[in-house]
Amino acid sequence: MQKSAKRLAIVGAGVAGLTLAQRMQSAGWSVTLIEKARGPGGRLSTRRRDGGQFDHGAQYFTARTEAFAREISGWAREGWVEQWNGSFYRWLDSRLEPDPVDRPRWVGVPRMSGLTRALSAGLTIVTSSRVESLIRKDAAWAVHTESGEIHDGFDWVVLTCPGPQALALAPSGSPVAERAQQLNYAPCWAAMVESGADFIPEYDGLRLEHPILAWVARDSSKPGRPDGCRWVVHASAEWTEANIDATGEDVARCMREAFEAVTGVQPTSVTVHRWLYALASNDGGTGSCIDPTQSLGLCGDALLGGRVEDAWLSAHHLAKSLLAIEQT
Ligand SMILES: Cc1cc2nc3c(=O)[nH]c(=O)nc-3n(C[C@H](O)[C@H](O)[C@H](O)COP(=O)(O)OP(=O)(O)OC[C@H]3O[C@@H](n4cnc5c(N)ncnc54)[C@H](O)[C@@H]3O)c2cc1C
Repeated sequence: MQKSAKRLAIVGAGVAGLTLAQRMQSAGWSVTLIEKARGPGGRLSTRRRDGGQFDHGAQYFTARTEAFAREISGWAREGWVEQWNGSFYRWLDSRLEPDPVDRPRWVGVPRMSGLTRALSAGLTIVTSSRVESLIRKDAAWAVHTESGEIHDGFDWVVLTCPGPQALALAPSGSPVAERAQQLNYAPCWAAMVESGADFIPEYDGLRLEHPILAWVARDSSKPGRPDGCRWVVHASAEWTEANIDATGEDVARCMREAFEAVTGVQPTSVTVHRWLYALASNDGGTGSCIDPTQSLGLCGDALLGGRVEDAWLSAHHLAKSLLAIEQT
C-alpha cells in the first residue's frame, strides 16, 4: 500500500518558512503555511504607499556560502533578483569614507517582496491568520488562530517566527521552547522618507556611526524600482531600544531631523515602522531544532546568525533532519 503524504504546518511565511515549504513539498509532503501578515515575506518585505514602495526591512542580501550563492544565481536567472550596484559609503565622525564591496549585494526586483512572491508560487499559504495555540491530540497537531480558525490533522508543526513568538506557541519543556528562549533580537525603528530630486548625495547606501541613525539607503536607486526619490532610514539598535515606546510621531520627527542633518536632503514625507525583532544575534547552537517526540521543529535566521542567508540555511538544515527522521 502506498504511504500517505506527511502533513506539515509551518507557522510564518518569511524566507525560512517559504524555503522549508518548497523543500518539503518537493519531497512529497503536504504543506500549509500560516502567516499573520497580509502577505508572505516577513522581514524581507516591502511597504507600498501612495504609489511608492519601500523595502523597509532587509536592505539587500549577500552570500557567504557556495550553496546560497548557487541559489541566488538561480533566482537571478529567473529574474527574481538583481545586483544592487550602487555607491556605498560609511559615515564616521561626520566624515564620508567609501565602503568597499567584498561580495555582491542582491535585492528582489521590482521590490524585495518580488522575491518572496516568487518563492510562494505553488504553496498553500493562509494569510492574515495569527497562530494563537498548538494542540496535540492522538499524534496529530491542530493549529488554532486568533480569529478562531482551526487547521488540523498535521503530523508535524514547524515554527519559523522569531524566538519570543515561537516561545509563546511551543509546549513548555520541549527542546524547541528551550531553544526559542535563547534567541535574541535587537529592535529597529525604520523610517520611509520621500524627497524631491533637486539634491541627491553621492551615496546610495550609507552605514553610520551616529547617535540616532545606523543606515540610510536611497531605496529608489535599487534596480527595477519606479521613478521618484525614496529613502529607507534605520535607527541604531541602541537608539531604538531607548525609544522603543515613543510615539510614531516623535520617532518620525527625530529621524527626519537626523536624516536632514546627515544627508542635506529635505524630506517631503516621513512615516515609520517599528521592528521589534529585527536583527538576530547567533546563540551558537545548531542550525535548527527538532523535538522528535512531539513532532515539532524550529528554524529561522536567528538559529544561525541574523541574515537572509541564515534563514535560508536554517530551513535547509531543518528539512534535512525532518527527512532523515521520517525516512528511518
Ligand atoms: C530593519 C531590518 C534590516 C535588515 N537588514 C538586513 C540586510 O541588510 N541583510 C540581510 O541579509 N538581512 C537583513 N535583515 C534580516 C532579514 O530580514 C532576516 O534575517 C530574514 O528576513 C529572516 O527570515 P525568517 O523567515 O527567519 O523570519 P521572518 O522574516 O521574521 O519570518 C517570520 C514570519 O512569522 C510570522 N509570524 C510571527 N508570529 C506569527 C504567528 N503567531 N502566527 C503566524 N505567523 C507569525 C511573521 O509575520 C513573519 O512573516 C534585516 C531585518 C530587519 C528587520
